[in-house]
Formats: sequence, C-alpha cells, structure tokens
Amino acid sequence: MKILVINAGSSSLKYQLIDMADQSVLAKGQCERIGIDGSLLKHTPAGKDTVKIEEAMPNHTKAITLVLDALCNKDHGVVSSLEEISAVGHRVVHGGEFFKSSVLIDDGVKEAIKACFDLAPLHNPANLIGIEACEEAMGSGVPQVAVFDTAFHQTMPDYAYMYGVPYDAYENYKVRRYGFHGTSHKYVANRVAEIMGKKVEDLKIVTAHLGNGSSIAAVDCGKSVDTSMGFTPLAGILMGTRSGDIDPAIITYLKDKYSMTAEEVINTLNKESGVYGVSGISSDFRDLMAAADSGNKRAQLALDMFIYQVKRYIGAYAAAMGGVDVIVFTAGIGENTKEIRFGSCEGLEFMGVKIDAVKNDMRGEEALISTDDSKVKVYVVPTNEELMIAMDTKAIVEG
Ligand code: ADP
Repeated sequence: MKILVINAGSSSLKYQLIDMADQSVLAKGQCERIGIDGSLLKHTPAGKDTVKIEEAMPNHTKAITLVLDALCNKDHGVVSSLEEISAVGHRVVHGGEFFKSSVLIDDGVKEAIKACFDLAPLHNPANLIGIEACEEAMGSGVPQVAVFDTAFHQTMPDYAYMYGVPYDAYENYKVRRYGFHGTSHKYVANRVAEIMGKKVEDLKIVTAHLGNGSSIAAVDCGKSVDTSMGFTPLAGILMGTRSGDIDPAIITYLKDKYSMTAEEVINTLNKESGVYGVSGISSDFRDLMAAADSGNKRAQLALDMFIYQVKRYIGAYAAAMGGVDVIVFTAGIGENTKEIRFGSCEGLEFMGVKIDAVKNDMRGEEALISTDDSKVKVYVVPTNEELMIAMDTKAIVEG
C-alpha cells in the first residue's frame, strides 16, 4: 500500500509518498509560494536529485495537481499511475476536543476542523484547504485521513488539562491545555517500546521533543497523561524564539512599559523570546553553543535555562506517573545535541538516571545512551511524523 502524506500550510505544501510494505519514502518534496508570484515545486524521488518545477500555483488544488503529476512523471515519477496511491494522510494541527485519534475524513470531520479555526487560526484553515484540494484533484474514491497534532494528548485527565480560570472560560470558550507535537510523542513512545522489545502499555515514558518548537510529554501505558504545551504551542519550556511559560501578568506589564498592544506582546513572546531573546544571538543551538564556548554569558544563560527547564519537566512527569522507566529525546536538538541530553539528565541520578558519556556521543540515530546499570533507560529516537501519519492512515483505511 502506498500512502501520500500531506502537510499543508497557508502558502506551502509538504508531501511524502510512503510505501507501507517496507515503510520506505518513494518521493518527497514541497510546494512553495502557493498563491504568490514565483511558485515552485521541489520534488525529490528516492536516491535521485531534486527536480525544481517552476509553474504558477494560484491555489492549493493546482499545487496538488502538480505534485500528483510529478509523482507519475515518466522521468522523475515513482508510480505508473495515480491508482497506485491507496490513501492520503493529512496533518491537521488542531482537533480540539472532537478527536481523540486519527479519523477518516467526511463532511462532519471537515465541519469539526472548521469549528477549531479559532483555536489554530494560522494552521487549521490551511490544513482544510489541503484536504479539499486533494478531494478535488483525486476524486472521492481515494480515502483521506486526518491526523491531529492534538489527538494523542486527549487522554490527559481533567486535572492535568484544566487551567485555574473560571469554569465558564472552558465551557464556553474551550480554554484548556490541548498540547501539540502529539504525532511525534506517539511515534517515539511506541518506537522506543519496540526497540526495547516491550509493550508500550507496560512502560512509563517521558518523551522530550526538542526542536525549534519543544514540548515534553508524560506517556503512561501508551497514553499521554500530561504535556508541556498548552492552549497554544507558546507554553511549556522556553524554545527557539518562544518564551514558554511566563507569569501572565507580564503581558499587561510589558504592554504598558513598551506601549504595545496585547497582540504585539504575544508576537514578541512567540517570535523574539526563548533562547533567541535571552541570548540576543540566535535561536539555533549550534550558534548558541559556539557563542557560549567562546565566553558569551547570555548564550550560556539561555542554554542553562533550557537544560534546567527540560530537567524540571522530567522530574515533574516522573512524579505525575509515579515513576519513569524510559526517557526519550527526539527532534533537531534532542537527536543532535549531546550536551543538552547530558545536562538535562545530570543530577537525576537520585531517581535512577545515568547517562553514558561514550554512548551519548552520537547524533541522528536510534541509540540507548544510558549506562548499563541505569535504572531508567535513556534513548535517542529520531522522530518520523510522516511515517506515523502514514501508519495511522493505513490502519484506518484497513478498518
Ligand atoms: P522544527 O521544530 O522546525 O521541526 P527541528 O526539529 O528541525 O525543528 O529542530 C531545529 C533545531 O535543532 C535547530 O534550531 C537547532 O537548534 C537544532 N539542531 C539541528 N541540527 C543540529 C545539530 N547538528 N547540532 C545541534 N543542534 C542542531
């Protein structure tokens, strides 16, 4: 079975065609500048050079049509006809409280995705446009599945997802913790159980997705029971440019001090804060580590804050689950930065976490990085959200 995975943004569309027989990626690529002058499709068939196709894409339907043409093209295509594509899996950012798992798309599902526009105004409208464009370009015979960033966290108990605000804000305006990166947390939790030869139902796992956006989750018996992102992806640990958790009173205080609107303050918290805002140098951990090595104190402070906050969540989630068997690091920083992994676990020996400095000296591959006698196992598992979307899509179309 071949499954097309689509991640549609407002002016971009990323795709992968995955052969589920061996989980290999047959081709991947992205459309850029949809609806803007200078539209471009970059298409990479497995093992071959990237082909650049410059053609006007006034809308997402045209973009999808060009992607399907590229997949079937006689020179750089990877299938002989569209009939080889059994289903499409769509990344959808917000499923609100409607979706606890991935779902076959029908009119009711599309209405529910629309009902969440308010909660994810930048993402959900684009995700829905991607779905409708695929339906138009491929016809109703090809099943389309929605895989939500929020769904995995819908198993959180109410005392973990509720905020201490008037209950009316929850009932009438859906204010609660949703959590994000669910597809990634689910993938690495299940994958680490597989690597260990155990059932995910028998494990207490802390998953640390550390990338430009970072979030940490407590996964007990295969279910998310808490996560660091909240009502929006601005919450939790400090990130590349996002502040993470702050005292909410800071917002009105800064609004007055800098003569900003509330929206401008939120924009600052999203785009000019985090390790970038603290260091004044970069949101990229490679730049920060280089600067800290050459004595830059603010870069060092940003790194120290990040490490401390990751560690604090690991401790909190061990408490939430009544213990922890495994810690998993994933995403750009988690997969590539041994210093962050080491620092986040340093001092947790009291709860049975011991990192092996030699095993930890690696990047970008699945590895056990704790010592043989570490009671808590620590792993690096590269995330693969596209594969997780394809796996969910396959499971749903096979009923
Ligand atoms: P996104 O949230 O955009 O998917 P990624 O998971 O790709 O982010 O993570 C991006 C971050 O990972 C970069 O900003 C950088 O800080 C870090 N990173 C990526 N590669 C490396 C590396 N080789 N060494 C250190 N840090 C890295």
